[in-house]
Amino acid sequence: MQFSTKAIHIGQEADPTTGATIVPIFQTSTYTQEGVGRHKGYEYARTGNPTRTALQECLAALENARHGLCFASGLAATSAVMNLLSAGDHVVCGDDVYGGTYRLFQLVLTRYGLAFTFVDMTDPARVAEAIRPNTKMIWLETPTNPLLTVFDIPAIAEVARSRGLVCVVDNTFASPYLQNPLDLGADIVVHSTTKYIGGHSDVVGGAVLLNDDKMHDTLRYHQNAVGGVPGAFDCWLVLRGVKTLSVRMRQHCDNAMKIAQHLQSHPAVERVRYPGLPDHPQHALARRQMRGFGGMVSFTIRGETAAAHRLLGRTKLFALAESLGGVESLIGHPATMTHASIPKAERDARGVTDGLIRLSVGIEDADDLIADLDQGLAYAVGNSGGSRAVESGRAAAAVQ
Ligand SMILES: *Cc1c(COP(=O)(O)O)cnc(C)c1O
Repeated sequence: MQFSTKAIHIGQEADPTTGATIVPIFQTSTYTQEGVGRHKGYEYARTGNPTRTALQECLAALENARHGLCFASGLAATSAVMNLLSAGDHVVCGDDVYGGTYRLFQLVLTRYGLAFTFVDMTDPARVAEAIRPNTKMIWLETPTNPLLTVFDIPAIAEVARSRGLVCVVDNTFASPYLQNPLDLGADIVVHSTTKYIGGHSDVVGGAVLLNDDKMHDTLRYHQNAVGGVPGAFDCWLVLRGVKTLSVRMRQHCDNAMKIAQHLQSHPAVERVRYPGLPDHPQHALARRQMRGFGGMVSFTIRGETAAAHRLLGRTKLFALAESLGGVESLIGHPATMTHASIPKAERDARGVTDGLIRLSVGIEDADDLIADLDQGLAYAVGNSGGSRAVESGRAAAAVQ
């Protein structure tokens, strides 16, 4: 069965009691038992809920996984995976992970005796070098946020396999439609279903997908024992959203490519980062391990902070907001929003400069989105020396 069919049918058979075509919202905390110890597989809703079961089966199918577990948020899913570890264990983690993941690892879990080393994973040899005798896990995200760097999942998974470590990939940015890390050698996939999988910016959720039966038993035990489970209505919303994931992702990819190409030729723009552009440093790798390049585009505007702030306040279709992956386009300024907690020198060293803008390209009409960015950019560089920036930009472009 192909992806689009799985998204609509797996786990979603008609309800056996009523024939309801759509999986109902089982808004119940408990289940009446026929006799002591005799029940239909459900006893209490933290432990299990049929709406959640449907979502878990569907998401597992989309990642070609044997097992799926859903959680109240992407961070609850991440936290559940960390329950596989014990005090004294060490994790090698990508240095460009989601800010909330960094905060959970470095500011919360270190108090429980876990240790983390954050490394640039563009060279898998550096991942191997960071491994210590007590290392148990390698954690990565690809493409990364906000620089859209692409890491080599098969190469990093091979480092993990050869050293007996668990390799976890946060696949939120790509979505299962564009990339399946388990097929590339990873052991566990994590998603914030808040983003592309839900797709409508109306629900927060997370998922863990994997093949290994033993790890699944442990994670399932902790899903119940720790309790970060999603409500039935939230599961239903994600299930409703995921049905259209394939058509949405195709439109996200088309729009993002058009916008990336347009920005690349715009005189107010210094540099565009999009894995689909041939000049992206890991373009060839992205072609190998992804089926499309996604809906996230970032670029640096000439004129740095002041110009960036003028653009951010000026776009009308691109809403100034955190988050990503919804049908509507969003614009953000990593230096003052998602990455503000990182010191400026370190931000600059990583490439998260004050002129960097991040777009979550939605599925509106591409020409409308381009027109919105154009009027915003004209305003942004038109004020206080901006036209000079445009002129010098043209000159620089001519030199190249
Ligand atoms: C948003 C996000 C998360 C966290 O998910 P929540 O649902 O907000 O808890 C984790 N990883 C990535 C890549 C994200 O974008």
